[in-house]
Amino acid sequence: MSIKLLEVKNLTTEFKTDKKSLTAVKNVSFYVNQGEVVGLVGESGSGKSVTSLSVLRLLPENGYISEGEVLLSQNNILNLDQKSIRNIRGSEIAMIFQDPMSSLNPVIKVGEQLMECTMLHLKHTKKEAKAHAIEMIKQVGISAPEDVFNRYPHQLSGGMSQRIMIAMALSCNPKVLIADEPTTALDVTIQAQVLDLITEMKEQSNIGVLLITHDLGVVAEMCDRVIVMYCGRIVESAEVSCLFENPLHPYTQGLIASVPKIGSGSDILPYIKGRVPDLSQMPIGCKFAPRCDGAIEKCFIEEPLLIQLDNQRQCRCHLVSERGERNA
Ligand code: SF4
Ligand code: MG
Repeated sequence: MSIKLLEVKNLTTEFKTDKKSLTAVKNVSFYVNQGEVVGLVGESGSGKSVTSLSVLRLLPENGYISEGEVLLSQNNILNLDQKSIRNIRGSEIAMIFQDPMSSLNPVIKVGEQLMECTMLHLKHTKKEAKAHAIEMIKQVGISAPEDVFNRYPHQLSGGMSQRIMIAMALSCNPKVLIADEPTTALDVTIQAQVLDLITEMKEQSNIGVLLITHDLGVVAEMCDRVIVMYCGRIVESAEVSCLFENPLHPYTQGLIASVPKIGSGSDILPYIKGRVPDLSQMPIGCKFAPRCDGAIEKCFIEEPLLIQLDNQRQCRCHLVSERGERNA
């Protein structure tokens, strides 16, 4: 039986501006099971990061959750006060970001930053925390852990600092790890190593991982299930093999077609025309209609619903729903 570690129900997140509130994420629902990697994909501006920041309650000041629930081991963390939420961050749910340097404190040695976390959450003594920190540095594949323990962040390479971020994120045994574009800032060989490390750590501690990325290659490599977002909405979700073999939503089809294929014999890179609309200028009907080659009149008038097609599969597209009705 799969255990749901994180469940997001009907999440809507808005941002206050001078004139009005803008909806960045609308009625988003998904879950992450134990031992599972769920990919959240879409171009920038699709609402992936706002979703993860909402889950962690780390939204900027003008952002707020207007609707929904975020259940962590069945407790709605949206009801918690700031102190409780701080306790949960790190100990129950942890996050790694794109730029590890911006998450590390430049004036504190790496080892001490690692110790802080377990002294706070696991109530380690200084001695225990030091031993644990060195062990974690070793676990993330760094060969001279004592040496790295005593370094300042600027003395680490990009790949090494992302390894340290992973060590820090996992040092208090969280149940869920959110990784937001964890390898985007790294060069290709290091990317692969960091992704392998995340997989390895997941297998070791059986956590659930929410992996946010715009890179479908990474999704194919690492994820069990995928959620595709566009303009703050889920437009398709499926098991990873289904999604790649038979993408249903025109946006997903475009994303997959944009992945360069080795040996495809073509040096033309198909891409999705146009760009993600601005939050303040959302189309009325299907948010993808201005960019969609298959759009029909209805698409410009009525927003399609997210339809559950089978157990693991959802799609938000008039054409897909109509095809489904005809075949039913
Ligand atoms: Fe394209 Fe219409 Fe489907 Fe939107 S609803 S993705 S515009 S076909
Ligand atoms: Mg982002």
